[in-house]
Amino acid sequence: MVLKKPVSLMLSGLILGSGFLAGGGASHADENGEFGTLGNDGELRVMNQNNQGPPSFVAGMLSERFEQANGQNAKRFLEQHKDVFEMDAPEQNLKEVRATEDELGMTHVRLQQTKDGVPVDRNELNVHFNENNEVTVVNGNYDSKLDEIKLDTTPRLAKNSAMEVAKDAVNAPDFIEFEKSDLIVYPFQDDYFLAYRVNLEFHSGAAGNWFIYVDAHSGDIIDRYDAMTGIGHFEEMLDTAPVTEEDPGAFQSQFTSGISPLSIDPDTLHQSRGKGIGTTGAQKNLNLGHGPGENGGQTFYLADQRSDEMDGIYTYNMQNTTNRMWLYENDNASWKNVVYDGDSSSWETVGQGPGVDAHKNSRIVYDYFKENHGRNSLDDNGMAIESRVHYATEFNNAFWSNGLAMMTYGDGDGQQFIPLAALDVTAHEMMHGITHYNGGLRYRFETGAVNEAFSDTFGSIIDDRSWHVGEDIMGEAWLEDGRFALRSSEDPGLFPVNQSFWAYSVDGEGRYPSHMEEFYFLPGNMDNGGVHINCTILQHSAYLVSEEYDMGRDVVADVWYRSYDYLHFDATFAEFREAILQSAIDLYGENSEEYDAFLGAFDDIGLYEGWDYDENFRDPLW
Ligand SMILES: [Zn+2]
Repeated sequence: MVLKKPVSLMLSGLILGSGFLAGGGASHADENGEFGTLGNDGELRVMNQNNQGPPSFVAGMLSERFEQANGQNAKRFLEQHKDVFEMDAPEQNLKEVRATEDELGMTHVRLQQTKDGVPVDRNELNVHFNENNEVTVVNGNYDSKLDEIKLDTTPRLAKNSAMEVAKDAVNAPDFIEFEKSDLIVYPFQDDYFLAYRVNLEFHSGAAGNWFIYVDAHSGDIIDRYDAMTGIGHFEEMLDTAPVTEEDPGAFQSQFTSGISPLSIDPDTLHQSRGKGIGTTGAQKNLNLGHGPGENGGQTFYLADQRSDEMDGIYTYNMQNTTNRMWLYENDNASWKNVVYDGDSSSWETVGQGPGVDAHKNSRIVYDYFKENHGRNSLDDNGMAIESRVHYATEFNNAFWSNGLAMMTYGDGDGQQFIPLAALDVTAHEMMHGITHYNGGLRYRFETGAVNEAFSDTFGSIIDDRSWHVGEDIMGEAWLEDGRFALRSSEDPGLFPVNQSFWAYSVDGEGRYPSHMEEFYFLPGNMDNGGVHINCTILQHSAYLVSEEYDMGRDVVADVWYRSYDYLHFDATFAEFREAILQSAIDLYGENSEEYDAFLGAFDDIGLYEGWDYDENFRDPLW
C-alpha cells in the first residue's frame, strides 16, 4: 500500500461548470454525486464531452499523497476509484505511455486504453500529480463500453496482407519512405473494429502520409486519411501540374552550384562561418561545414555542428526532385547525407536563398526552444534538425514529415508562393515536429485544427514582427490581389479561404473564422475537416491574450507550450480550453491576471466550457 492514508470520501467537492451538466452522457456524477466524493478539500472542476466513460477533464484535490508520482500509482488511484471513473479494471486495461516531471515538480502520466492488451486507437488518459504527489487532474478519453463488450482480438488477417491492402487502397508507389502497421482496436461510427492501423508515407507520385485502417478479420478498409502536415491546403487553387518524380536520366537543375552532389560523412567536416542572402534579400550569417572539394578546393555544406548537445542542423538540396534515392543506388550511400553544397562560404546566388533561409531559420528556432523552454531540439533529446529545400517543381507548400523526421520546403510557383522557408513557416513546420514528439495531435477535425494552431501561434511567437503568417512567401498573383499573408491570427477575417469551402462558412462569404460561431463544419475529405481553417479561431485567442490583454508573447508561449501535458491524441477544442486554463493556473495561479486573460480571450472567441461539435453542427449553405 503506497497511500499513507486511504482517500477521503467526504462529500465536500463542488461540481462546477455548465458543460458538465449539459454534455451528452454527462450526468453520472450528477446523479450519484460520486465526483463530489473525490475532492478532499475545496472545489472540483469537471468538464465532460465523453458519451461513454469518465469526464474529459476533472481537476481538484483528488487524492491523498502518494509516496511516488508514477504510472503505477496513477493506475492504482484509478483502480481505487474505478466506480467513479466507470472502469472495470484500470490496472489491467491501461498501459503506461510515459511519465514526465516538469519544472514545477508536477508529474504527468499518460496512459493508453487497451482491450485484451490491444491498444485502443486515440483513447489516452492523463493522470497528473502535483509536487506533493497528490493527484490533481485526470483528463482524456476512456471508453467504458469497451470494458463490457466482447470483441475478438485475435486477427484472422496477417499483418503483411493488411499492408498490401493498404498500399493498394492509396495507390502507393514502389518506393515508400516510411511504413508501419499496428494492431489496434478502432472505435468508428458507434462500432468497434479490430484493425491494422497502417501508416504509409511516400513522396513519389502524389505524396501522402496516410493512415489506413484495415479490418483485421475481413480485410476491408474501415477508414483512411492523409496526415501530411502542410502550411496550407491549396489543391483547388493550383493550376500547375501535379508533383511528379523527375526522370533520373534527365536530371537538370538551375540551382546546382556546378558541384556534383556528394555523400559526405558529417563527422569529417570542419566548421566555419559563412554568409548568405535569403529569398527576400536579407543578409544572414551562416554556420557551415567544409571539407575537401574538387581540384584541391574546398566544398562548403549547410551543416551546422556548433551545438555539442545536439546532433547538428543539416539542410539538403532536393534539386527539384521528390526523392533522390536514385542518385545513390550504385554506391549504396545514404541520401540523408546529401547536404546542400556550395563552392565557397558565400551563399549569395538567387537559387541558394531557400537553403540559406531553411538553414538559418532552423538554428533560430532551435535556439528559441533551448533558451525559452529548455527544449533540446524537436524531440527534446538532441535529434538532428534536417530540412529539404528545392523539393519538387513549383511546389506550393511546406511540410513536416513524421516518417522522415524532417522539414521540406517547396520553391512555390512564383504566383501563389515564392520559396517557402521563411522564419514563421519554418517555425510552423518545426512545431509540427514538436507536437509529434510530445505525443501527437491527430491531424483531423478539431484536433487537427489544434495542431495547426500550435504551429501558427509559435510561428508568430518566434517570428515576432507580426501576428500574420506567411508574409514573406506570397507570390505575385496573390500580392496583386492584395493578399499580403497566408493567414492572420490578429484578424483572421482579413483573408478568404478556398472558394470550395465557402458554403461551409456562417455567412457564405468564406472568411477565415475568428469566433466559434464561424466554425467550419467540413467533412473529413476537405482539408481534413478544416485543420487549416478552424485553427485561426484558437490562434486568434493567442493574439488577444498577447496584445489586447497585454500579456505579451512570452506568456502565451509558456502557457501554450505547457498545455501539451494536458492534451491527448484526440483532444477537442473544449479540451484544449481546459488544458490552457489549467496550464495558466499551474504557472500563475487562478487569481492571476494571466489566467483572467486566457479566460477572457476564450470568452471573446466564443469557446465556452464544454463546447461540443455535434451540438453546434451546422449544415453547409449550398
Ligand atoms: Zn501546418
